[in-house]
Amino acid sequence: MYHTDTHTHLYLEQFAHDRAEMLQRALEAQVTQLYLPNIDSESIDDMLELEAKYPQNCYAMMGLHPCSVKADFEKELYIVEDWLNQRPFAAVGEMGTDLYWDKTFFAQQQEAFKIQVQLAKKHQLPIVIHCRESFAETVELLKPLIDKDLTGIFHCFTGSLAEARQVIEMGFYLGIGGVVSYKNGGLDKVLPEIPLDFLVLETDSPYLSPVPYRGKRNESSYLPIIAQKIADMQGISLTEVQAQTTANAQKIFKNKDSIKY
Ligand SMILES: [Zn+2]
Repeated sequence: MYHTDTHTHLYLEQFAHDRAEMLQRALEAQVTQLYLPNIDSESIDDMLELEAKYPQNCYAMMGLHPCSVKADFEKELYIVEDWLNQRPFAAVGEMGTDLYWDKTFFAQQQEAFKIQVQLAKKHQLPIVIHCRESFAETVELLKPLIDKDLTGIFHCFTGSLAEARQVIEMGFYLGIGGVVSYKNGGLDKVLPEIPLDFLVLETDSPYLSPVPYRGKRNESSYLPIIAQKIADMQGISLTEVQAQTTANAQKIFKNKDSIKY
């Protein structure tokens, strides 16, 4: 039995000095399956290097993060497309929209979203969606693109119960992270109503540490804290959360076992 961290940026420089130790702590905490979302062309080498070092534990995605969508986004997407043609990846991600940091390139974000969904369909991959202050806009973009095969994760879901239900109705899953442990995080009103079948766990390391590590660097070994919070809110055991969220992740990242190194 093991935990699956569906969203962790372990390849970033925040882990440059103790990456091996940090990974060891994750394995000791039974967090053995780690999915690495890409950010942009600058992060690819480090991500693939980490994956090559831990092929039994780390699985790379390929995509362009909305905060990296600028005027030159088409050039970035050619790189994404090229990599997707070269070798298998676990998902297209992370991709999406973000109106929190900068609204300048929202039109480009929308265009990049549509292109990446088409790439996911072509390669029969799930998508991992980042949306911040842009839930309604993201749903509006995604809805016309939905087909029976398209699925994925709304990563770092922090919305309302109505929004959670919208995600599920579209055939997608909710990625639950450290916010579940925050006093005013709001997920205490959502998670008791949502069946475990639609949840996956994530840390989003090095960001969004759960309490009691809030404000400090996050790492994948903290994932059981998130699982325990969900177990408490749903009145079930930690083992149940661990088993079902891992089964959900395996279902989403269905190509994982066919990845060849
Ligand atoms: Zn991320």
